[in-house]
Amino acid sequence: MVLAAERAALELREMPVPEPGPGQVLLRVLACGVCRTDLHVVDGELPHPKLPLVPGHQIVGETAEGRRLGVPWLGWTCGRCRYCTSGRENLCDEARFTGYDLDGGYAEYAVADERFCFPLPGGYPDLQAAPLLCAGLIGYRSLRLAGDGERLGMYGFGASAHIVAQVARAQGRRLYGFVRTGDEAARTFALELGCEWAGASGELPPEELDAAIVFAPAGELVPAALRAIAKGGVVVCAGIHMSDIPSFPYELLWGERVVRSVANLTRQDGHEFLALAPTVPVRTEVEVFPLEQANEALDRLRRGEIRGAAVLQP
Ligand SMILES: [Zn+2]
Ligand SMILES: [Zn+2]
Repeated sequence: MVLAAERAALELREMPVPEPGPGQVLLRVLACGVCRTDLHVVDGELPHPKLPLVPGHQIVGETAEGRRLGVPWLGWTCGRCRYCTSGRENLCDEARFTGYDLDGGYAEYAVADERFCFPLPGGYPDLQAAPLLCAGLIGYRSLRLAGDGERLGMYGFGASAHIVAQVARAQGRRLYGFVRTGDEAARTFALELGCEWAGASGELPPEELDAAIVFAPAGELVPAALRAIAKGGVVVCAGIHMSDIPSFPYELLWGERVVRSVANLTRQDGHEFLALAPTVPVRTEVEVFPLEQANEALDRLRRGEIRGAAVLQP
């Protein structure tokens, strides 16, 4: 499924099987998760994607020898810059990203730099493993950067939050879910995943929070989350794109409150999270679409109609 131009529907195309370059593996795609980032790429909200592009960066694939590998968003880094040499390859200036700078997994075959692929934990079928690769591991990075506070708020209850909630509960944290006003299905989902309270994003929780993760791409949630956190608390913006953050009184930031973003992942994040997931154990809830229905999956995600994560199956 190919993005030929931004803001256009993906096109089903017959293409040659890609040739692996040096250090790359050829994978038969078994499943590919659909991420909100894919939506931002398709909708033209991220600058300069490769075009034409095969989107998709949560690839579960198999080599010709039958090895199962996961391909994440981080597809290549320079290995030399000051970020790469200080454990921060997620910030590499020259990084290339799967399904954005490099063709991804909305396809039957994909190639990937083997150094950036992950072996996948055995207990997960292909479809259930796919959302671990971005929703899970960038979600995990967001949780780590939220600090160790006990009372954690989550704004937006999509693919990432449904995984992070399970990890956070296993760590003994108390969870508070924030969803779109009137979205009863999302509110119920948040409660099922262990939130002790769930309400609309403009509401204040019954207690002040130690940290909040904003998964939804809506800038107005940043001041809303700042209102909900205690002094010294952190608001983590987990997405790659967000609408503008409205101006807010300094008082909301005062008291050593912190607002920060999370960018991409390091391979270290991936190894840590994929080792952790089966011990929780994280269970992913997926809605499966045939590959050729990728547009339908993206539309449903745009409308907030996916419970858990959407996954494409070639
Ligand atoms: Zn670099
Ligand atoms: Zn993603």
